[in-house]
This record gives sequence, C-alpha cells and structure tokens, in this order.
Amino acid sequence: MCTWTLVRSRQIKEFNERFLQQMLRNMNESIDPCEDFYGYACGKWSENYNDSDSYLDMPGYMEYKYNLQLLRVLKMEQKQGGIYEQLWAYYASCVDLTSPAINEFLHLLEGELQLEWPIFRSNQNATWRNESQFDWLGTLAKLRSYGLNGVFISQDANVRRDNGSHYVLMLAPQSAEATPFNEQSIQDLYLAFGLDKSSAKQLTAKLMQLEWRLGNLTLQSVNSSISSLVEYTLSQLQQRLPQLDWRHYLSNLLLERQPDEQLLLQVHSLNASYLQQLQLILGQSSNETICYYLMFKLIYALNTELPMSSEGDTKSQSMSCVQLLRGHMPLAIHYIYETHNYGKRRQQTDAALQQLQHKLRFEFERLLLENHLQLGKQEQAYVLEELHSLRLKIGNLPPHLTKQQLLEYYKQLQLRPNDFYGNTLQLLQFYNRREQQLLRNKPSVWSSQDYYQLAGVVERSSSPVKIFQNAVLVPQGYLQLPLFDVRLPMLHRHAQFGFILAHELQHAFDLFHIVYDARGNYNATGSEVLQHFDNFISCYSNAHNVPQLQLSESMADLVGLRLAFASYFDHKETVVASEQRPVGKFTAQQLFFINSVQFLCANMQQIGVAAGSQDVEHGMHNERVNRNWPHHEHFASTFNCTVGQAMYQPQTCRLW
Ligand SMILES: [Zn+2]
Repeated sequence: MCTWTLVRSRQIKEFNERFLQQMLRNMNESIDPCEDFYGYACGKWSENYNDSDSYLDMPGYMEYKYNLQLLRVLKMEQKQGGIYEQLWAYYASCVDLTSPAINEFLHLLEGELQLEWPIFRSNQNATWRNESQFDWLGTLAKLRSYGLNGVFISQDANVRRDNGSHYVLMLAPQSAEATPFNEQSIQDLYLAFGLDKSSAKQLTAKLMQLEWRLGNLTLQSVNSSISSLVEYTLSQLQQRLPQLDWRHYLSNLLLERQPDEQLLLQVHSLNASYLQQLQLILGQSSNETICYYLMFKLIYALNTELPMSSEGDTKSQSMSCVQLLRGHMPLAIHYIYETHNYGKRRQQTDAALQQLQHKLRFEFERLLLENHLQLGKQEQAYVLEELHSLRLKIGNLPPHLTKQQLLEYYKQLQLRPNDFYGNTLQLLQFYNRREQQLLRNKPSVWSSQDYYQLAGVVERSSSPVKIFQNAVLVPQGYLQLPLFDVRLPMLHRHAQFGFILAHELQHAFDLFHIVYDARGNYNATGSEVLQHFDNFISCYSNAHNVPQLQLSESMADLVGLRLAFASYFDHKETVVASEQRPVGKFTAQQLFFINSVQFLCANMQQIGVAAGSQDVEHGMHNERVNRNWPHHEHFASTFNCTVGQAMYQPQTCRLW
C-alpha cells in the first residue's frame, strides 16, 4: 500500500469514527427503545444542538446551516454587482428594518388600486370616499399579484386533467383552508391603526359577521360539491356563470393581455348557486366592510413577508431575511450556492445519490413483482412506468446556468437597499408574472425539466420534496453533514438519505398522486390501483387513529423504511464486511434504525410550545416515528421488543 492510500484510509476511518460518535451522542440510552424509540434515538439531540433561538429540530438546523452559508457568500460578493447586487439590495433592506409595519404595504398599493383604504381617511366619522362605488372584483383581481388568494374566489395556475403539461387558470370557491379571522387580533389591529375602542369593536363585529357568513357558504360548497372540473373559454364562462363580470376580473388580473380563445379556464366546484349566494352576502355588507375584509385578508397574507424580529435580536432577523430571499429569488439563490459551494462536490455527490436512488428503485421493483397487492398486468405496468420515469433533480437550477442568463431572467427587478416594502411588492409581482407566463403554454428559455417554477413556500425549505412533475427535488443545502456526505459508510447513506429519498419516491404513489400517470395525466388505471390499497388502509386505521391527511405520509414512511432497509441489508454487494461488525453494543441493524430517525430529532419540549411548527401532514416527529417505525418487520426483533411493550406492533401493516 502506498503512503497516500494509507493516509486516506486513516482519514476515512477518523471521519467515520467522528460521525458515529456524534450520532450516538444524540441518543438517550436510559430510555427503553421498546417503550419510546424516538426518545431513545433522539433524546439528547438538543444537548448537542442547543442554539434553540435558531432552530428546534434537525430540519430547522439544516435550514440554519444553509442560511449561514448563503449569508457568507452574500457578504463576500455584494460588491461584485449584477445578481449579487440585487440579492444584497433585498437583504440589506430587510435586515435594516427596525420595526416591520404592514401598513407600509397598504400605502404603497393605493396608487395602483386607485383607492384610499378606509382606515387611512383623515376623518373616520365622514363617509368613506368609495362607499357608493367600490369595484371589489377589480380590487380583488389586482391584489392577486401580491399574494392574496382564496378570498371569495380561489385561483391557481393548474394543469389540465388529461394533459399534465398544459397550464390553465383554475377558478374555485373561497378556500376552506384559509386561516379565519381572529376576533381579538382584528380588534387589536384596528386599535393599532389608531381607532378608538368603540369604533374598533363595532367594525370588528361587522367583519366577523361577514367572515362567519362566508365561512358557512364555503362549508356548504365543500359539502355539496361533487368536486367537478370543467373547462371553458372566457365567453363560455361568462355565459354559464353570468353572476360575475369575468372579463373585468381577468383584465385586472392578467398583467399581459392574452387573446380570449387562448386562455382556458378550469372551473372547479364553482357553480351558479355559490356565486348567487356570494353576491347576496356581499350585497348585504357595506362597501366599506368589504374593503376592510379584503384589507385584513391581505394583511394576513403579507404578514409572512415580514422578517421575524424580536427586540435586539439581529441574528434571527438576519436569518429570517435570508429565508425570505430564498422564496423570492430561488433561481439566483441556487446559482450562488452552486457557484460558491455545491459545485465543488456536485459530481461526486450527485453520483452517490443517483446510485442510491437506483438501488431503491430496484428494491421497489422487486416488491412490485412479489405482487403482495395482487395487481393486474396493466396495473403493474402503470406503476412501473411511473417509477422508471421519476427523475431525481438535485438543486433546482438549469445545468450550466450563466450569470448573463440570470441577469436576463431578473431584468425587470430594480431592488433598492432602502426600500424593503417596495422590494417585496416588486418581487411578489415578479413571481406572479412568471406564474402567468405558464398560462401561455409557450416554451421558455429552459426546458420544463431543467428548472421547476415552484411556489415561494416550497423554495424556502431545504427538505427534499416530490413535486407534481414526476420528480423528486433535492435542494443542495440538504446534501451536507450531518445528513449526507460521500465519505459516509453505505449503512448510514441508506439509513438517512436512503430513507428520505424512498419516502419522497413513495409520494408518487400515495393516495393523492397514484391517479396521475408518468406524464402527470389523470389515468383511470391509477384509480384501479388505488382500490388495492384498501387492506393496508384498514390495517393501519385499526392500529392507529390518524387524520386522513396523515395516511399518505404514513404510507410513505412504512414503504420508505422498508425500501431503505432492504436496499442495504438484502444486497451482498452493498454490505461492506467492516460495517457489519457491531459498534460497541449496537448491531448494524440497530444502528440503521437509530440513524434512520435522526433527521427528525428535535427539542421536543420547545417545539411543542412553538405554535405553527407542527407539521399537520407528517404529525409531530416523535409520534410519527413511534407510530410508523415499529411496522417494519425487523424492528421488534432488532431491539428485542415483546408483546405488551409500547413499540411492539402486534399486527404490522404492509402496503406493497
Ligand atoms: Zn412526506
């Protein structure tokens, strides 16, 4: 052996040793793994990851680490001009904000809306200027550009049911999932705007009544609709649903005009009865109340655009500003991270990840051929086709993206370092314009698989995600320690990223997505496959009382864990002999299970308190792990769990 190889193998040994020690330090061995597996695997995590002002769980830690890396680049390169200058301008305007105030947004919008918000009129006792004439429909349409959605009518750039690559404008009733007004917070806002107590109370009451009536209408439409989906041209829509002036709505909505016949409107559960009642309800409210209603809904929506800041805590405001910027200018952010960080490790990391994905796919194919679900030939072929066409997209940016292309892409923006509110509105409108361009269904600079245009909330997260366009997106920021590194032994690659990838891969076949085929088109074979899930669903629902929303997530967990485990332990070529030796008192299987949940480690005391940090779909980390991991066929034997213990699952459920 030459000296270099010796040095290298010693380095790798040391690296592995360090990783393992870190992993074991997160555990709390005084907890019985058969009583509380999550507590056992993650119980001491918060002692090692203790900056609880910056993060409360492992995903949060990954975001924090990534944000710090981005900030370092921004600071270093801010004088370079070009795209760095734009990014820095937003960041500087955000971080310098001393007391974020939402009414600044409202003032800035008055010009474009040609409107004086009733709250800003100089004499509150006088009648509001627009009381007798208020174009609520046009105002609503214009406010869409700034992120207001789901009020009175919801809309989305959606794809056609039988053509997953053709975008249409979808219109639907008011969203049932929107955050309702909170009476106290509305009243407090009125007071903060300078109104006296009795006026604040009176106006709040009117608003709450309108909210209540619209809420009932929404509920009614959810219960009565047979979730229909029809397509109209504008003139057809106007004929079928004449209650609203759709032409007026669209002319205020679309930033660039499109010939009527080119724009297809997809109408989802929106019918004459809904629109008639909507008109009736609005007709019984004053224009002032309707305008206040829109204003407060806008405030609720724009609230997420303000940086979080607490007195004197500049660090958290700074991190919050980077986080916001990631949602506003994702392509530029991916570019700078690629250039200054990921680019150096892309080749090796991508290859390792593709290899992992390949093994998981192979394993899933094996399950399919075992055919536990008893699928017919056509159904099997349907699943296989989707599996084979699923792409792994690492970092959401076109390959070989140049600085010049990036400047061209963002050329409309004129961000200024001292204009936070103006910057935010510009960026929101910029995003909206990009979304509207999808509706033109014309080829863009990049092929649809080179760059996926995603919502800001998706881009603000580093967690891998399965997107509708049949791809699993892995943001570059997640591909680093402690979650991934090409030097990691295979066991840990499979346990951590193997599980994460397999979970996302399974989302292509979950309760919502199985009905869409490899091209994103609705397919009847998919709903036939869905029928085969019944046994699993009843098995799982018998064992656990979980909301419907969490069922798909649990499926992805159970199958994901199975694939990650089997793709490592069932293959002689992956299993490296040295990795099979026990480490201390832990067997390789035990290490696998322990490591597989550590990407979910959290400071459970604090995360429980922090409102809004709950993941409604996946459930709380500890509940999710303790509910789903024991369903693995080897879990109980690996930890010697026996009947009667909390983690002993008498009836493990199997899907595929
Ligand atoms: Zn999921």
